[in-house]
Amino acid sequence: MSSVHYLCPHCEARLARTAGEPPSACERCNTPSSVVAPPENAVIDRCAACDHDQLYFQKDFNRKTGIALVVLGAAFVPWTIIPLIGVTILDYIIWKVVKDVIVCYQCQAVHRGYAIPPAIKPFDLVVHDRHVYGAAPPGAEEGH
Ligand SMILES: [Zn+2]
Ligand SMILES: [Zn+2]
Repeated sequence: MSSVHYLCPHCEARLARTAGEPPSACERCNTPSSVVAPPENAVIDRCAACDHDQLYFQKDFNRKTGIALVVLGAAFVPWTIIPLIGVTILDYIIWKVVKDVIVCYQCQAVHRGYAIPPAIKPFDLVVHDRHVYGAAPPGAEEGH
């Protein structure tokens, strides 16, 4: 199931729209929103929430999922070998199971359940900084 997760531009509530769902207003502050999740097989080349065209991908990973996966994985691996190879295998399983999500540099909207197009690269701190601090030339912050 594909979905887009973004913050309400008005009240910053975390909103989620699933593919196929019609646009609807913010559940918390009722600000109208036209954001819809693209269809599952869509090629994501711009942000579904703010239409920005610079996106990156990252592992859809948080601590809770990680721990759940380790517990689940441990159930299938004999405890006696875990000290030897178990941790490596669990790491590998987690890396394989956890899917990539597409994130917007501009508004941090998360696009979950889509294929990653080749044009989208992993997170780049330089691009990120340009969005956060603006396109100031290097050294512009000196000499105040
Ligand atoms: Zn809102
Ligand atoms: Zn965006």
